[in-house]
Amino acid sequence: MTDVFVHEVGTRDGLQSVPTFVPTELKQRWCSEEFRAGVREIEVCSFVPAKLIPQFADAAEVVRHALTIEGLTVAVLVPNMKGAELALQHGVHKINYVISASESHNRANVRRSTEESALDFERIVDLCCAQPFAERPKIVGGISTALGCTIEGKVSEESVRRLALRLVKAGADELILADTVGYADPAAVRRLFSVVKSDIGAVPITAHFHDTRGLGLANVLAALDVGVRAFDASLGGLGGCPYAPGASGNISTEDLVFMLDSMGLETGVDIHALLEMRAEITALLGDHPYHGAIARAGLPKGYQGYQGRTAG
Ligand code: ZN
Repeated sequence: MTDVFVHEVGTRDGLQSVPTFVPTELKQRWCSEEFRAGVREIEVCSFVPAKLIPQFADAAEVVRHALTIEGLTVAVLVPNMKGAELALQHGVHKINYVISASESHNRANVRRSTEESALDFERIVDLCCAQPFAERPKIVGGISTALGCTIEGKVSEESVRRLALRLVKAGADELILADTVGYADPAAVRRLFSVVKSDIGAVPITAHFHDTRGLGLANVLAALDVGVRAFDASLGGLGGCPYAPGASGNISTEDLVFMLDSMGLETGVDIHALLEMRAEITALLGDHPYHGAIARAGLPKGYQGYQGRTAG
């Protein structure tokens, strides 16, 4: 009985900003160990040309391994039709399609207008719907820069609502609303998620927050308040932006699990096992800027967490 779903995105969002190639076996081990700690959905990589992001040159092998982990939902990020075709060929469970609410960010990120990306999304949905039902992956519309953009600054709520509705009408099974650059605050989160939720009805929304300005977990609380029940996070808060030295990446998975766990919300993740595997994986990954208060300060004395409490 999971109350809140924690999705790991460090293997994609985190590693995307790591300039040195991380060995394939280490990426595979990361997925296996995190599943063992209780995480049930991982965005394992991105299907993009290796010349653009060499880190994901081994995407196929990472996906192949992840699919052997029984019970794991294997998600991949794709920016276009080519990526979606590869994702389909490899039999992933979820295709997270990325499109920016901000026109300039979309052009910088995927070199097309938002309109062109939206049309591509419609074609991808058609392609997936043409597959035999049992093989059809879930199609997720991931809206980047939903709460601000480093190029345009403020992003209007109206443009995010329009885009969200369009993706849902096109056939998105789920949405992700992403604060890609860490501009959000709890009041903005409460407002945006409330209106989008009321626009799109029962379609589930995952919140994707970066802790760039220290408001990551506060934003999680705000989203929880308005009924969001799935969150992306990155082990060790790995990530950040190459153009913003010192800026952290996604909210850290350990801190997110600790907060939810302390509040009595079941995530299915064992915080002790998660911290152990975090120590192991970050040691193997080597010297990168990691973030996370729980890994730094340790759990409170006598802390048992949700798993410990319910086991007793
Ligand atoms: Zn992100």
